[in-house]
Amino acid sequence: MDKNMDKNFVNLNTNPCKMCMPMGSISAFYGVRKCMTILHGSQGCATYIRRHMATHYNEPVDVASSSLTEEGAVFGGEKNLMKGLDNLIRLYDPDVIGVPTTCLAETIGEDTEGIVARYVEAHPGLRVKIVTVASAGYSGTQFEGFFRTLRALVSQTEPDAAPNGKVNIVTNMISPADTRFLKALVSGMGIDAIFLPDLSENLDGVHKEAYDRLPMAGTSLAEIAQMAGATCTIEMSSFFDPSYSPGQFLLEKYGVPLRRTALPVSLRDTDRLIALLSLAGGIVTDGIEKERGRFLDAMVDSHKYNAQARAAVFGEPDFVFAVCRLLVENGAMPVVAATGSVCPSFREMLEPELAGLAGFHLGEKPVALDDCDFAEIESYVKKLGVNVLVGNSDGRRIAEAAQVPLVRCAFPVHDHVGGQRIRTLGFEGGLMLLDRITNAVISGVETTFRRELYEKYYGSA
Ligand code: SF4
Repeated sequence: MDKNMDKNFVNLNTNPCKMCMPMGSISAFYGVRKCMTILHGSQGCATYIRRHMATHYNEPVDVASSSLTEEGAVFGGEKNLMKGLDNLIRLYDPDVIGVPTTCLAETIGEDTEGIVARYVEAHPGLRVKIVTVASAGYSGTQFEGFFRTLRALVSQTEPDAAPNGKVNIVTNMISPADTRFLKALVSGMGIDAIFLPDLSENLDGVHKEAYDRLPMAGTSLAEIAQMAGATCTIEMSSFFDPSYSPGQFLLEKYGVPLRRTALPVSLRDTDRLIALLSLAGGIVTDGIEKERGRFLDAMVDSHKYNAQARAAVFGEPDFVFAVCRLLVENGAMPVVAATGSVCPSFREMLEPELAGLAGFHLGEKPVALDDCDFAEIESYVKKLGVNVLVGNSDGRRIAEAAQVPLVRCAFPVHDHVGGQRIRTLGFEGGLMLLDRITNAVISGVETTFRRELYEKYYGSA
């Protein structure tokens, strides 16, 4: 049964294709200068998140926990959270403290905002900014946790709405390497920008003899305040919910014009980003023109191989949408597009893309799935003859079971090194990803065609 076709379908996920909300929240807080995060809830949540982030980014990751036990679950965790805040301030002296909640805190109906308000009241002259985010793991994925946190940062920071001529760039869950690329692109076009968050350094640092206890790079609190006085906001997400869009908040509250765009992975989406930056006063340099030309040249080079690609793309909605658009414009067929997020517009937005596929007219039925698990993806991988997987490391079991290569990208990549340096954005990054996918298809053909020929003419060995 296709659950997307049946509104009464009760979906039981056994191995969900998603990371939980606090993971996205902590990732976003890691792009803020001198920020520490304390998870309000049980201790295991912080351990799980630290473990995933540390193996993806290959950096030490600090996340505190209010460590609720049975007593906190019954009587509330105010005492624990207040003590945790005291300890963080004493040990780290941060500028910002992020307080995302977990399943436990939300399930017991914890009034986290009230606790923080009482803490601030009890500490007159407190220098640190404390930002709360409601992020029950079961009520969304890292995608929602990430954007809710960005919105909380802009809505809970006292604004500096004086016009400053800057452009707000709200990024997405992108790698530090892609963030560095975006910063270089924007400054190369002559634009003074505020990136929220700025993950370029804190999760891909340089070697130092002494360990910085706090992330010393990233967006400062003063810059977050200045976002209210920017000339416009460019928000890189195709899936819009006014309740967690920071750009929407800045538009409604301070009249900062909002422009939205998909993650710039494909040629057309990078063109759109460049067009938006030009509109904001940026200059299109010769270097950008050349990179675009190289992208076009590479598309010509690899199209004959891409026509054989039958891809399954999985992960967070924006990543899947952007990569599918890259594949489609290069003649590859994303026959499975899947996200674990509950995102009804995912299907609606992908269907026009998939409808244009060559195979679609020959009776092919590509699928776009939201709220799905890995078992469901695997069944479609086998049914639809997928020959390349594109997504995070959690797809490796499918790759093994279906004998299909996995092109690792997005988050988490915890079974290979270099997750923090994977490039997918811009003409160059999109091309790097396209090359990896094309090469996976070529090597798949190289390694299987003899066996397939043998089986065709002589039966299985
Ligand atoms: S799903 Fe809930 S319990 Fe599990 S790690 Fe996330 S917040 Fe914690």
